[in-house]
Amino acid sequence: MKTELFQSTLIGLRDAIAARAVSATEVTRAYLDRIERHDGLLHAYHEVYRQRALERAAAVDDGRVCGVLAGVPVAIKDNLCTEWGYTTCSSRILENYRSPYTATAVERLERAGAVILGKTNLDEFAMGSSTENCAFGPTRNPWDPQRVPGGSSGGSAAAVAADVCAGALGSDTGGSIRQPAALCGVVGLKPTYGRVSRFGLVAFASSLDQIGPFAHTVADAALLLQVISGPDPRDSTCADVPVPDYLRGVDEPVRGVRIGIAKQYLSDANDPAVAAAAERAVEVFRGAGAKVVEVDLPHTEYGIPTYYIVATAEASSNLARYDGVRYGYRAPQAEDLEDLYSSSRAEGFGDEVKRRIMLGTYALSSGYYDAYYVRALKVRRLIKRDFDAAFEKCDAILCPTTTGPAFRLGEKTDDPLAMYLNDVYTVNANLAGIPAISVPAGFAETSGPGGRKIRLPLGMQLLGPVFKEEALLRIARMCEAAVEWSSARPELVA
Ligand code: GLN
Repeated sequence: MKTELFQSTLIGLRDAIAARAVSATEVTRAYLDRIERHDGLLHAYHEVYRQRALERAAAVDDGRVCGVLAGVPVAIKDNLCTEWGYTTCSSRILENYRSPYTATAVERLERAGAVILGKTNLDEFAMGSSTENCAFGPTRNPWDPQRVPGGSSGGSAAAVAADVCAGALGSDTGGSIRQPAALCGVVGLKPTYGRVSRFGLVAFASSLDQIGPFAHTVADAALLLQVISGPDPRDSTCADVPVPDYLRGVDEPVRGVRIGIAKQYLSDANDPAVAAAAERAVEVFRGAGAKVVEVDLPHTEYGIPTYYIVATAEASSNLARYDGVRYGYRAPQAEDLEDLYSSSRAEGFGDEVKRRIMLGTYALSSGYYDAYYVRALKVRRLIKRDFDAAFEKCDAILCPTTTGPAFRLGEKTDDPLAMYLNDVYTVNANLAGIPAISVPAGFAETSGPGGRKIRLPLGMQLLGPVFKEEALLRIARMCEAAVEWSSARPELVA
C-alpha cells in the first residue's frame, strides 16, 4: 500500500476502499505490517487481532460487511470489553480476563464495517496522564520516544499519531482523550456525558466517564462520533437525544461564531509555546470572522480538588468488585476469605489504583463524607453553573488542552500531585458533563540527543454546551482549516 494512503485521512482511506482503489485486505495487511515494524518501540498496542482483522477485511471485500466505515482499520482502548481477546485495563487483576460481552461503541464500529486491529495501552483502569501506570509497560510518544504520549488513552493517541491505525476509541474521565490527543498531535473528542453508551466500558468514575474518538482530522472524528453515538437500552445514562449528521455541515464555518476566552486558562503555568499557540488560535478565529469575547469561569481552580474527590470516590466503589472471587486475579495462597480479598487486591492492583481506592474510601467514610464528598458535589454544581453562564455569551470556549508539551518518561512518576496537575484544563468539562475537543495547535521546539531539533505537538481545546457537538465540530474545523497542522506526521524511528 502506498505511503500516501497511510498519511491520508480516515475518510480518504474509506473512500479509496469504497472505490476499490485498494482492497480492505490490502489496507489491513499494510497496517498490520506497520504495527509489526513500529509497535515494538512504541507499545501502543496490548493485543493485535491479526487473524480476526484479516477475516473482517475479507468480509468487506466480498461484500458481506458494508457500512460507512467499511474496511477502515481502527484501534480501541483496552478498557472496552470485547467478546474476543482479553480486556485487561492494563491491570494484573484483569490480566487473563475475557469479557462475555462487547461494548456498545465497539459493536457499533463493527456494524459500520470497521476493522478492529487491536486493543491499545492505557494507564491502569484509566487512572493517569502518561500511560506509565501500566502492568505491561508504558507507551512511547511517536514524536519523541523518550517522552510520554499522555494518558490515560496514550496507546490510542500514539497509534493514530504513528498511523498504526486510521482512528481509535478512548475514554475520557478527566481528560484522558484530550490530553494524549494534544501531546501526540491528533484530534481527540470527549462527547457530552450521555452521548455515547458506556455499556461495556470498564467503569472508573461512572458520572464522568465517556467514550470518544481519536483521529487525524475533525471530519474523521465527526464520522467516528456519528457511528458510536445514540441511545442504548443497556445504559440508562445514555441520553435519548437524536444524533445529528455530524459530518454534513462540518466544513461550513459557523457564521458570527462567538469564541469565549477565560483568563483562568491563561495562567503563568503555561509553557511559552502554549501561550503563543493560544494567541495564534485566537488570531485564527478572529481572521475567520469570529467574535472573541471574554468569559469568566471563577470556580476553575477548584476543578482539580473536586475531580480528585468525585473520581476517587466513584472509583473506590466501582473497583470493589475485583475481589479475587468474581473476576480475574486470585491470590494463590490465601488463608481465609478476608485474606483472599486483601491479598488478591494487594497483588493485583498497581500503586496508583491503590492510592485512588484509599483516597476515595476515605472521602466516602462516615464522618468525612459531608466534608469531602458532599462538598465536592456542591462545587461541581458551581463549576457547571460557571459554564452555563459563559455559554450565554459565547458558542464555544477556547483554551489550551495542557500547560505544556509531552514530558519525559519517568519525569513525574514519583510525584502524583504533579501528575494530577496535567488535568488542570480538562477535568472541568467532565465535571460539567459538557463536550470538549482537542485539536492540533502547532509545536513546541526542543532539542533531543546530539542537539537534534525535536518538534513536540501542542493542542487547543474547544468546549461547548451539552449536546452541541455538531457546532463544536464545525468550530474546531474552522481552526483546523486555517492551520493545516493536521497533516503533520512524526518521523518514526523503525
Ligand atoms: N488523568 C486523569 C486521572 O488520572 C484523567 C483520567 C481519565 O480521564 N481517565 O484521573
